[in-house]
Amino acid sequence: MTWLFDSHIHLSDPNYHEDLNHIIKGMEAMQIKACCVSMDCDNSRRTLEIAKKSNLILPFIGIHPECANDDLDQMLNLIQDNSDIVSGIGEIGLDPTYVNSNEDKKNQIHVFESLLSIAEKYNKPVSIHSRKSLDDVFEIMTSYKAKHALLHWFDGNKKQLQKAMDMNFFVSYGPVMVYANDKQTLLTKTEQDKILVETDGPVRFSRCFEMKSAQIGFIPSVVFCSSKILNKKYDEMASILETNSKNFLGI
Ligand SMILES: [Zn+2]
Repeated sequence: MTWLFDSHIHLSDPNYHEDLNHIIKGMEAMQIKACCVSMDCDNSRRTLEIAKKSNLILPFIGIHPECANDDLDQMLNLIQDNSDIVSGIGEIGLDPTYVNSNEDKKNQIHVFESLLSIAEKYNKPVSIHSRKSLDDVFEIMTSYKAKHALLHWFDGNKKQLQKAMDMNFFVSYGPVMVYANDKQTLLTKTEQDKILVETDGPVRFSRCFEMKSAQIGFIPSVVFCSSKILNKKYDEMASILETNSKNFLGI
């Protein structure tokens, strides 16, 4: 039985509150597990709460670069207290969009490095946000193990992809890849054992997705599209992705 994995989705987002029981039933029916990432301390507690509902929800907790002013000590305690039940640390990373001063930048880096350290301490995989910050992320990650690190929604150029491969990162592609040629090209240049798929729901996607908020049910479309681009049968692609997901998660 092959399981699909959504390697990055925010199921603890209020957007999904009402439908959560339905979503879990759908995950059971479609055989999809989800790495459920978090934004800040409150949202991480919610993630831990919903993870109790189903073992298909794999809780990732952490502080998103947008929320870098959240309480870091509280987060480190939360991770420590739940180290036996969290599947990973995330969403963490860097993003200049949320930086207004040098102090902000330093703080974002400090939060990112502190969470990388604790992930390393407990041997947990990390889900990394690297929008407009890939080179900085590469530089910081030279001091950390990247064996179980995912550059989610990979949006770099070919050179940066090569660097990610050289550093042993996993990279994930989402619904954009279904309709964007540049992402399809990147996929063909990604080492097969480093590819993961995601939705990043509740992000909305255009074109064939008609600005609908991403659902777990988008995953088979992303898998199908990947199989076509890489000239593989759907089942073969699904099985490769399952192996990669387990390697990323260390399970
Ligand atoms: Zn995200």
